[in-house]
Amino acid sequence: MDWNQLRNAAANMADKVVNATGEVVEKGKKQVDILNLESRLARAQRQLGALVYSLAQNGEQQPDLVEQYIQEIAEIEQQLNDVASEKKETVTVFAKAVRLCSHCKEKVEEDAVYCPYCGQKL
Ligand SMILES: [Zn+2]
Repeated sequence: MDWNQLRNAAANMADKVVNATGEVVEKGKKQVDILNLESRLARAQRQLGALVYSLAQNGEQQPDLVEQYIQEIAEIEQQLNDVASEKKETVTVFAKAVRLCSHCKEKVEEDAVYCPYCGQKL
């Protein structure tokens, strides 16, 4: 292996590490999204329940208002489904990405034999 090849290989690995880090950040953000959506969903469901309950108690009907809540709940559920299906794709990348060199603590490829930063045998 000549020096150019070696340098290209190291550059490729550095690119991959940057991409992997991006995925990890993205995954963390998605978990926050899911938590936010779940709490919004629970709140909308609670509000709808309370509304229907008080309408029934007072013998009133407000189909438009009820419909608004139902729309909102359906929307949140749709968003949750979207986020959840995106999440599955990134999990494999995440699992593959994080391995640190035992010597210099840089992130290295899962299957790397030598650290591209310090040359430590892994
Ligand atoms: Zn190293």
